[in-house]
Amino acid sequence: MLDIPNDIDHLRAVDNAHHLHPFTDHKSLHEGRVRVITRAEGVWIWDGDGQRLLDGMAGLWCVNAGYSQPTLVEAAARQMATLPYYNCFFSSTTPAVAALSERLARMSPAGLNHVFYASSGSEAVDSALRIARQFWKLQGKPEKRIIVSREYGYHGSTIAGASVSGMTDMHKQAGDLPDFHQVMTPYTWRDAGDLSPEEFGLKAAQSLEAYIQQVGADKIAAFIGEPIQGAGGVIIPPDSYWPEIQRICRAHDILLIADEVICGYGRLGAMFGSDVYGIQPDLMTTAKGITSGYVPLSALFVGDRVAETFIEQGGEFYHGFTYSGHPVACAVALANLDVIDSQNLVGAAERQGATLLAGLRDALGDHPLVSEIRGRGLMIALELAEDKAGHKPYASSRKVGLTCRNFATEEGLVMRACRDTMVLAPPLVISDEEVGLVVERAARAIDRTW
Ligand code: PLP
Repeated sequence: MLDIPNDIDHLRAVDNAHHLHPFTDHKSLHEGRVRVITRAEGVWIWDGDGQRLLDGMAGLWCVNAGYSQPTLVEAAARQMATLPYYNCFFSSTTPAVAALSERLARMSPAGLNHVFYASSGSEAVDSALRIARQFWKLQGKPEKRIIVSREYGYHGSTIAGASVSGMTDMHKQAGDLPDFHQVMTPYTWRDAGDLSPEEFGLKAAQSLEAYIQQVGADKIAAFIGEPIQGAGGVIIPPDSYWPEIQRICRAHDILLIADEVICGYGRLGAMFGSDVYGIQPDLMTTAKGITSGYVPLSALFVGDRVAETFIEQGGEFYHGFTYSGHPVACAVALANLDVIDSQNLVGAAERQGATLLAGLRDALGDHPLVSEIRGRGLMIALELAEDKAGHKPYASSRKVGLTCRNFATEEGLVMRACRDTMVLAPPLVISDEEVGLVVERAARAIDRTW
């Protein structure tokens, strides 16, 4: 039996000595104390100092089915014992990947009948971008290359992921490839001014059309957007937004990529965000909730028009990963989709999301620090603002959010700060009682921040 040491101080020391963390200020990590998470159950995680925290972020928006689903563990063990690995290169497949592909195609939005696999959301996005550009080459339009995205979009942290994301801090750190461009995001709370949400949704979508008119549709390969922006601060578009984006993409023959790495697999109270907004994407990236994070897997759905072009024209597409369609990950995904269905986690997200939103509004609606509480399903944000009535974020972003996040941790709640927007996205298995605890703990953290 493999023995991982459990002396927490020793683990902290070796972690500091040898582990470079993702998305981390290493200097302050080394000056502080790294938290060692040792086990998890349901919606709860425990650290090495014995603190129990309610995981209001489902890890990184991914543990949709919660931390204790035995069938996922059994599926992984069974698959490991039978066929722990084989690849899908060179005319091979495996039962798990074939069965998962059929199941995903059955549940996907219309027309998305083909699936390409990788291990992370970033790789799925990268694959979508390469497929989009290659598609236009196969169509005899190699100059259609530009990828349009939005301010505050997050699409991963490979060089292409950072370049296509709308986070300026990432662009400054070698995330500045050419032929990527960001347009407006439908950030109603901050930018709508005197416009109604519906008018503002149209205005934000039409920033895409204005850009197309500036550079020409013959230069643009695709538009990519999250149905609801996650890491940008749960930015929820008005209902007028996505139909207008869809119209513009169709009118100018630009591929539409829905990035559902967070929204997919039930979080919004529907299986996919595209179902919520009636989006008919040409490509759809998913990851995270596909295995509830138990093992890494991403699935890029490819629409018939694009896939059939590759199939009909032939010629090798030089793209893929050693772990594309990993059988253990696919077996866990199948078990996870069974759990989502049999425990009706899509319905649970809708129901508990509404309860959590109402609870937060009751507890914090009049709080002097909180300007807006918004959400859809179990994806919720509290906007902490310098000028609550004027809808103005803090000028020097992140300090207030980070303070609030730290108070939440002390209160026993994992809450995330996206700029100064506090975000909650707990596992979809959260109970009524646990929803109540999230409200109480979030309210105490915000009171302490004020
Ligand atoms: N796309 C979206 C919408 C995401 O939220 C994320 C991660 O949070 C990614 C892509 C990148 O996924 P990963 O971290 O698995 O590479």
